[in-house]
Amino acid sequence: MRILVIEDEAALLLQVRRRLEEEGYTVDSTGDGKEGLYLASEYPVDLAVVDLGLPGMPGLEIIRTLRAEGRDLPILILTARGKWEEKVTGLEAGADDYLVKPFHMGELLARVKALLRRAAGTARDELAFGLLRLDTTGQRVTLDGAPVELTAYEYRLLEYLARHHGKVIPKAELADYLYPHDDDRDSNVIEVLIGRLRRKIDPDSRTKPIETLRGRGYRFTLEPA
Ligand code: CA
Repeated sequence: MRILVIEDEAALLLQVRRRLEEEGYTVDSTGDGKEGLYLASEYPVDLAVVDLGLPGMPGLEIIRTLRAEGRDLPILILTARGKWEEKVTGLEAGADDYLVKPFHMGELLARVKALLRRAAGTARDELAFGLLRLDTTGQRVTLDGAPVELTAYEYRLLEYLARHHGKVIPKAELADYLYPHDDDRDSNVIEVLIGRLRRKIDPDSRTKPIETLRGRGYRFTLEPA
């Protein structure tokens, strides 16, 4: 799951980011409103935490723009203490929930999880490609009904490819998705992960679910059932 945090208080941003990462989420973050909107529009973000008072572009405008673009990801807003009217305008603009500063990290996590659960309940939580099925809520994979044991990275790689089935995904995009904070990442790691995934989800090399396009990337070839 990928979470975007837009907050201009550097210390708070760092704290939120660390806590979410400890919980296993992939986190993108920025202190600038315009960049935040760009990240939310360009990347497959599952949830956004948006401070309302931001340089570049106010949080409310980010939310309104995203909703106008048809993006329905859950949005949790952060509001300043005592500004109750901010909550109302934020929710009216399309936010799903709010937290008043200062807040405990435990409270933030609880809200984030509740919003993601709610979103998973309305969206499809299973991706089915013939005999291969991904339960994206429980992050479990089965092949012809039998569980496939995947590491967390293998699972995330597979889900990303499956969600973008039919499209060519450059290796660099996969590396960026899996290791967003590692500046020194080695794309060989992606090759290794792809190789392991292939052996696990297509043990007898029959369906060839992941195609390599030399110099361009990978493509998930199975069609959703
Ligand atoms: Ca602020």
